[in-house]
Amino acid sequence: MGSIKKPEPGVHIINSHYVTPNLVGHDDYQIFENFLKHLDASCTLISLEEATQMIVDKIPAKKTSYVAFTFDDGFEECYHVIAPLLEKYNTTGAFFINANFVESDDVYRTAFNDRIRIDTKTPMNWSQIKELHERGHVIGSHTMDHYNLADLNEEELHFQIQENKSILEKKLEYSCDYFAWTYGKLIHFPQHALDIAQKFHPYIFSGTNYKKYFSYGTSVINRRHLEPYWPKNHLNYFLSIKKTWS
Ligand SMILES: [Zn+2]
Repeated sequence: MGSIKKPEPGVHIINSHYVTPNLVGHDDYQIFENFLKHLDASCTLISLEEATQMIVDKIPAKKTSYVAFTFDDGFEECYHVIAPLLEKYNTTGAFFINANFVESDDVYRTAFNDRIRIDTKTPMNWSQIKELHERGHVIGSHTMDHYNLADLNEEELHFQIQENKSILEKKLEYSCDYFAWTYGKLIHFPQHALDIAQKFHPYIFSGTNYKKYFSYGTSVINRRHLEPYWPKNHLNYFLSIKKTWS
């Protein structure tokens, strides 16, 4: 048995997409449970709302390593595997949804999967997303179509950001306060995209720059990209990083 490094106290927001990049298999449940079990042994699992509040309020975590879970792109396994297991471990997840991917046809799905460089995965449908929302999970916005926002003009950016929020809010009858841009790096999110996103969402998340809590001043909260099937030493490494506020 290798020794497990003690995690650094702090608030960690994990950014994942699926259990594995493959088609959903019988071992997905076990892979995701092993991931949660490993984190639960040394960390306190919290919701994205709690993690966000601690970071925004700059509450120092003195002894405990807190972990919150987010999943982008809205794949079906979020409903069938991920959410039920998060609930089994007494926590909730946050799911960032692209409205045009939900209930899309095969042609659209193939193009969407090409954009995110993955083999065919199916999206959740609206009733599954609505149910996750009702079960206390966060439903966030991830733009309409998953384009690279750095490639879009002002009008297209408005459509991708504002329209996605408005569809989610109409379908779920809530206020969509959480936004994660696509591809997650700072080069994928120019200042004018941030300006538009800030008009519509109090909380904006990256998938990069993880050693710092914030990017763009305090406008963006950084998440750590990490998929559940990755080796446990990846997990231990990121948990051992001491994060800074600026
Ligand atoms: Zn994405």
